[in-house]
Amino acid sequence: MADLDDQLGHDLDAIRNDGLWRELREIESGQSSRINFGGCEFINFSSNDYLGLAAHPALGQAAQEAVEQFGVGSGASRLICGSLQLHHELETALAKWQGAEAALVFSTGFAATQGVVTSLLGRGDVVILDKKAHASMIDAAKLSGATVRVFRHNDVENLENILQWANAQGGRVLVATESVFSMDGDRAPLARIVELKERYGAWLMLDEAHAVGLYGPLGQGLATVDDLAGRIEIRMGTLGKAVGAAGGFICGSRQLIDLLVNRARSFIFSTAPSPVASAAARAGVELIQGAEGESLREQLWQRVEELRRGIESFGWKKTDEPSAILPLIIGGEDKALSVMEQLREMGLFIPAIRHPTVPRNEARLRVTVSSSHTGADVRALLNALGQAR
Ligand code: PMP
Repeated sequence: MADLDDQLGHDLDAIRNDGLWRELREIESGQSSRINFGGCEFINFSSNDYLGLAAHPALGQAAQEAVEQFGVGSGASRLICGSLQLHHELETALAKWQGAEAALVFSTGFAATQGVVTSLLGRGDVVILDKKAHASMIDAAKLSGATVRVFRHNDVENLENILQWANAQGGRVLVATESVFSMDGDRAPLARIVELKERYGAWLMLDEAHAVGLYGPLGQGLATVDDLAGRIEIRMGTLGKAVGAAGGFICGSRQLIDLLVNRARSFIFSTAPSPVASAAARAGVELIQGAEGESLREQLWQRVEELRRGIESFGWKKTDEPSAILPLIIGGEDKALSVMEQLREMGLFIPAIRHPTVPRNEARLRVTVSSSHTGADVRALLNALGQAR
């Protein structure tokens, strides 16, 4: 067999030749509206820290107190001796916030999705995914062993056709989608999807990674805003985006959570989340529900509105409803990289998102807005975009 490095060299050349080369940037600062790398400061329009909580003193304080009481490491998986009081408190807080019977925390959102889909479905079952579903759902669906079917993005008629087919297979049927799509910032037609899955006796898993913390009077996400939370069997959220810490959670019925504790391999066979992350997440969840959370959301939506108006004036398409994710579709991979480079020279950091994260020739600048941005930051971005074009 050929030498490993020779083989990998060919693979890496293919990636480079496709304009898809990626490399890590060493960030020299914490998360905020400013970011430092290569010795320079940039205005950061790339983080999912939508409410500026990642470096918030209240979360830092909670993390420090947790270190004093519990140390840094959790030592073992939850079912051995790693199920700390902090994890239980966080789960109680999450369930209450989300109006669910119970919640379960995982080390990442990715692991949460893996755990739940593979626990509920297997051979003979069907998972139906939106075409733009996140990689975590696609991988979980494949890993489950169920038949995977895909419906056209947000197309409920296409979903209904697949549901009819799936119903005839005789196994369990799970529909999985996102409330706010991670790369497009648009929303799923939730009410219609809920109605359909009920008509066909399927279950729904909703990934609220980019909605939790942002929508609704207490920031619970879009399922609650649309008054559909009680009709959605499985709701998933992350603790590493608007919540400002790290981790993921599933909320739903007590039975669902009990099943996950007994069956979800990404939960059972993985060290429990660090006390630091869980304590910070708990503080984030509390903050989001209080007056400060409300005012951070107001600031965020104000900035989003300013940016939406600006990008529309440049002729870029905007999503029907506001979201903190504003994709500026460029098209070609090389072109997107060149615009990203021009913006960087003007002191702004916005990453070019390319295949395989998005389809080929749909490369884009994924602008994300945070409550920590000022009106001047938004004007600087619009100004730079005007020049780059
Ligand atoms: N779902 C969606 C829609 C996401 O965007 C992400 C993170 N990029 C995840 C799940 C995974 O969450 P985590 O980062 O907590 O693993």
